[in-house]
Amino acid sequence: MTRSGAARLAGVIGWPVAHSLSPRLHGFWLEAYGIDGAYVPLAVEPHALAKVVDSLKEAGFRGANLTIPHKVAAFALADHCDDTARKLGAANLLVFDRDGIEARNTDVEGLGASLVAALGDDGLKGARVVVLGAGGAARAAVLACAQLKAKGISVLNRSTSRAEQLVRELGSLGEAAIECATLEHWPAIAPGARLAINATSAGMKGDTAGNAPLVRVELLPREAAVCDLVYNPLETPLLAAARKAGLVAIDGLGMLMHQAVPSFEIFFGLRPDVTPALRAHLEIVLRHAG
Ligand code: NAP
Repeated sequence: MTRSGAARLAGVIGWPVAHSLSPRLHGFWLEAYGIDGAYVPLAVEPHALAKVVDSLKEAGFRGANLTIPHKVAAFALADHCDDTARKLGAANLLVFDRDGIEARNTDVEGLGASLVAALGDDGLKGARVVVLGAGGAARAAVLACAQLKAKGISVLNRSTSRAEQLVRELGSLGEAAIECATLEHWPAIAPGARLAINATSAGMKGDTAGNAPLVRVELLPREAAVCDLVYNPLETPLLAAARKAGLVAIDGLGMLMHQAVPSFEIFFGLRPDVTPALRAHLEIVLRHAG
């Protein structure tokens, strides 16, 4: 549909931004719900972020999503923030309102919704989870699993120092006990896990580490699940190995679709549904992505 002069405006800021699926995702919903609005990709170099955010606010944008490399800098720009953004020290959503700029982080809610869709409401209650990685996505994964009442969370990373920092900074998370170790500890920890989440960038398109899965999923119990936050490609070597081993495989598109729901609601005033049609649309986009 065409837009009126009163169209609601929002976008995603990244550097580069051409790879972002967010314009396709929000564009699908705008079209499906017949909303008078636009969601645009904004390629912004790190040094220009503050200036661009101010200009978007002045120009009447409702807000903006942030992708690599802006999530930490965007958090620092905001006047206030929600609890999740504070815990993660990073924002994937800036909301412009009368009180200034609010930093939010919807990755935790997005992953939580994706895990609930795959494993049920109580799928992780009292369970042990292994999170691979210790960057921003791993932090979101730890928080999501704690909110879903996991009993123990083991963070395994290539370098110990980053995993130790993650555990130190996230502190105590309700009933979940968090421990950290290196990836070499996988064989000892995997047999007791209900879920393993890959929150590293291993397996991503262009990853130079090759096609081998990051860990041996065969060491997980038969009823375990494997979730990969990487969504390009959709079928990563880790997920392919999980399927081959008969485990439940959860891809990264679920988190991506669900983390966009609160942003769309804030920007355009309607809570959108995550549907098979949206997934099919994004799968086609990914298949044709260069
Ligand atoms: P990040 O902060 O740069 O962290 C990257 C992590 O991956 C670090 O722990 C790093 O280990 C580890 N790593 C990188 N290459 C590795 C390899 N070959 N072997 C083992 N470990 C490796 O990145 P991030 O923001 O957390 O993102 C991580 C992944 O999650 C990306 O693929 C991103 O696309 C994905 N993600 C998906 C969604 C979604 O909606 N599905 C949302 C957010 C992120 P070191 O600390 O040792 O360097």
